[in-house]
Amino acid sequence: HLSKRLATVASYVPAGARMADIGSDHAYLPAALALTKKISYAVAGEVVRGPYENAVNEIKGHGLTDVIQPRLADGLDAITAADRIDTVVIAGMGGTLITEILERGKARLAGVSRLVLQPNVGEARLRRWLMANRYQIVAEQIVGEDDHIYEIIIAEPSLVPFRYSDYELMFGPHLLEKKGPVFVAKWQDFAKRERGVIAQIERAQQVPVARITEMKQKLALVA
Ligand code: SAM
Repeated sequence: HLSKRLATVASYVPAGARMADIGSDHAYLPAALALTKKISYAVAGEVVRGPYENAVNEIKGHGLTDVIQPRLADGLDAITAADRIDTVVIAGMGGTLITEILERGKARLAGVSRLVLQPNVGEARLRRWLMANRYQIVAEQIVGEDDHIYEIIIAEPSLVPFRYSDYELMFGPHLLEKKGPVFVAKWQDFAKRERGVIAQIERAQQVPVARITEMKQKLALVA
């Protein structure tokens, strides 16, 4: 049974996919997809030995050793051309780390037709990397779970470069279009916190006016 967050990620893995789950920890995601026969093959990559061993145990415990390969490796080093991976999932990490993994592993993304990414923070930076590397953001989701709000970004390589505005990079082009209740709650909460910070530093009078103006401009995008 997957959490709401991971179930949403799973729903974007195409049927019959050959997937790589980078930073797989317990390999819950590929295990659930393999048990329901939604994928034909998976690599579960982990850079840390403890989580890697969790993955090994999970895969063995479910008798999935034919379908899922656990690999102890850093980022996309976990996959080779022989794996013929078509879908890469990177979930549950900061957007900066996801961006670094993609950047360092670029060469291994050649045959990959879909990225399913779930950054915990730093979504704008990740979207900027996708844009700079000729990916199109084909879908986005936002889900709330246990006091956290998670964004899921689905990207596919594109022949024509896609341009997103700073506004779209910050909020997500698809999330912005839909403006659903979770999205509105996330940014109202952001605006509330940001207003608090601005009020505080204005009182302290230690931050240059230009910086405060900049923060207010960013806040105006939300409000
Ligand atoms: N993907 C799972 C999920 O979404 O529930 C697990 C998320 S867990 C919070 C993040 C995992 O990423 C950790 O197990 C960590 O060891 C792994 N990780 C961090 N950096 C990595 C890297 N460069 N390559 C592979 N795994 C990495």
